Amino acid sequence: MSNRPTQPRESICPYCGVGCGITYNPDSGKATGWKGPVNTRGEICPKGAAAWEIVDHEDRLTTPLVRDGETFVPVSWETALEEVTEAFSEIVETDGPDALGFFASSNCTNEENYVLQKLARALGTNNVDNCARLCHSSTVAAMGERFGAGAMTNTLDDLREADAYLVAGANPAEQHPIIFRSYLLPAVRDGTELIHVDPRENDTTKAATHHLPVKPGFDIPLLNAVAKVILEEGLTDESFLETRVEGLDAFVEFLEGVVVDDTPGWRASTPTTSGRPPARTPRPTGRRFSPGWG
Ligand code: SF4
Repeated sequence: MSNRPTQPRESICPYCGVGCGITYNPDSGKATGWKGPVNTRGEICPKGAAAWEIVDHEDRLTTPLVRDGETFVPVSWETALEEVTEAFSEIVETDGPDALGFFASSNCTNEENYVLQKLARALGTNNVDNCARLCHSSTVAAMGERFGAGAMTNTLDDLREADAYLVAGANPAEQHPIIFRSYLLPAVRDGTELIHVDPRENDTTKAATHHLPVKPGFDIPLLNAVAKVILEEGLTDESFLETRVEGLDAFVEFLEGVVVDDTPGWRASTPTTSGRPPARTPRPTGRRFSPGWG
């Protein structure tokens, strides 16, 4: 495209919250990485490398379209805005402002999304949504309820400090390759334990110290069982519980009904332990993420 930069400029990848440094490569027309705070070696994932491909994509919407029967017809912006104004006015008059819905985009800037929600509220509705509901609504709701905020509770740098990672139902080696390669993998190679809870084996499992192949739907019973073992064996951080946790008594009461050792239906296949030595000496009871679990 004629308005593309001819000189590389350092920018930040817009595709996910990791925030890798990327730059446009005028020779290839693709994105390449620069050594940013997160992608310290300048690496980027395939999504980031394709960041500019949508700019010239043949499916990209470059002009307003108005429905005409079964097809869409290109029109000028003036015509499109008149159509929208008329239709919105009619809907609000007939069914009220809450009959309107606005869908923002995670690929837009914060400012663009801010303007969209302002427009919705100016018209009298709070019906604003975007794809994050589909991707993250369960996480956001659960974290908001449990931690008070539906967002990551730590910095990426904190990951380097962990003694053990418990990854349940996720495959960061493929889904978040930059974080995995920059933070988790070096720590695991340095002795941090990685326990992977997933019915399937994937690239994350290959790096894991232990693989717990629960049947689909059994990750919550597993976590409840782990919580019960932690409490039963006195592995709790009492000052943390006192200062940070609410509702512990109710949770302990709930755990009384949780079965730890006699649940043969949990396993999708045989749990495995890699040959890598764990970062800390396994506890004598052997219950800590032992292959005998389940
Ligand atoms: S991980 Fe990939 S998609 Fe996310 S910011 Fe980095 S390059 Fe972009």
